[in-house]
Amino acid sequence: MTVRATSRGAQRTSLEGTRAEVLICGASFAGLAVARELAGSEASVLVLDRYEIGERQTSACACPTPWLEALGLTDSIKQELPYMSFTTPGGSARYRLPWSWSSFDYRRLCELLWDQCGQARFETAKVESVGEQQADGTINVITDRGTISAPLVVDALGWRRVLSSPHYQPPQAPLSRGLEVHPEHDGSGDALDIWIERSMVRRGYGWRVPAGDEARIGVGSYDPTQHVKEPTVALAERLDRDAVAYQGNWFPHRLRDGTEDGIFFAGDSAGHCFPLSGEGIRTAFYFGIACGRELRAVVDGGSDRAAALVSYERFNAAHKRPFAIALALQRLIPALPPRLLTAVLSLIGNQRIVDRAFGWYLDQAAPQFVGAVPAASADESRGLTGAHR
Ligand SMILES: Cc1cc2nc3c(=O)[nH]c(=O)nc-3n(C[C@H](O)[C@H](O)[C@H](O)COP(=O)(O)OP(=O)(O)OC[C@H]3O[C@@H](n4cnc5c(N)ncnc54)[C@H](O)[C@@H]3O)c2cc1C
Repeated sequence: MTVRATSRGAQRTSLEGTRAEVLICGASFAGLAVARELAGSEASVLVLDRYEIGERQTSACACPTPWLEALGLTDSIKQELPYMSFTTPGGSARYRLPWSWSSFDYRRLCELLWDQCGQARFETAKVESVGEQQADGTINVITDRGTISAPLVVDALGWRRVLSSPHYQPPQAPLSRGLEVHPEHDGSGDALDIWIERSMVRRGYGWRVPAGDEARIGVGSYDPTQHVKEPTVALAERLDRDAVAYQGNWFPHRLRDGTEDGIFFAGDSAGHCFPLSGEGIRTAFYFGIACGRELRAVVDGGSDRAAALVSYERFNAAHKRPFAIALALQRLIPALPPRLLTAVLSLIGNQRIVDRAFGWYLDQAAPQFVGAVPAASADESRGLTGAHR
């Protein structure tokens, strides 16, 4: 069970009446990417999360290495994985990718990102809902520490889309579910391993992500009604590993609106997790940066909120096609007869096809988008110990 470092009870002072120019709800991949773009601006930026920054890992933490390099986060890497293997009931295929995955340490990555967020302030608070908008357009956000208001509000709170009404609620919502265990590992291996077997999970896949001293072994189901504990335990046993240190969550598999009622949504709250692969870290960075740039233009005086909302929604909508293709593949692949799937996987094994297919995949949210590190001067940067500023 996660133990919260958050101070509780009387130690938690009220935040009632707090105002900020930008309020970022959620301090994981998407929220921190938004805050990073605002570093060096004059704006008062407040970031909220129910946990301390980096306290609660939300995934298997595998990301394309070029993204970690572009964001200056390579110090968090635990193991680089230049290969992928795919196992079906009919056999296995192993590909060398044109780029590599890296598994990383979640806490360290968040720490490094936060170091790039300039003068942003952080508070722990549970975000409950959005209140009434004031006449001047300021948005009230209701938290367990009181109501906080800001003209620019971002929901980077993950799959539930807390600042929307109604929220996304499984099992009816277009969500996948995943569960993994984290047994000890000896640092061996050079591949991110995938299993596509109906006997394991009817519509979904299993994975093993080597991460230095631990392996992240799990199963994801595109069907939110199918429980994945049993297949996760079975996969760990098959790999001769203990099913320990469970971690699970829902993740979206359909792109959602990027804005609603004056609020910006980035990461899982906007359905920015790729269907089929369930990869949502890189896209949370990508859309978080795009959102942060729109907000930066507003606080720097070059734009206003209405224009930023339109521009960000347009950016979001421009990605409908690749998300739709990935969703179609998510529906098709589990329906393929296993033999055909095995044949397709070995056909793709041609290096030129691997390079093209995985090159296309990376290009849908390319690391070049990161560009230069925003203007957070080195003397502004500080570690997590200074989180409460
Ligand atoms: C088991 C599993 C393994 C995965 N593995 C990978 C992987 O290896 N690679 C990959 O790319 N993707 C992976 N994903 C998907 C990935 O985890 C998500 O797409 C990604 O975390 C989205 O980032 P985010 O910042 O939008 O949301 P999140 O990472 O979910 O962060 C949301 C933040 O909001 C906070 N929060 C939520 N509700 C509240 C509230 N009410 N009040 C205050 N704070 C709140 C949370 O504490 C959290 O810090 C995996 C998903 C699962 C379930």
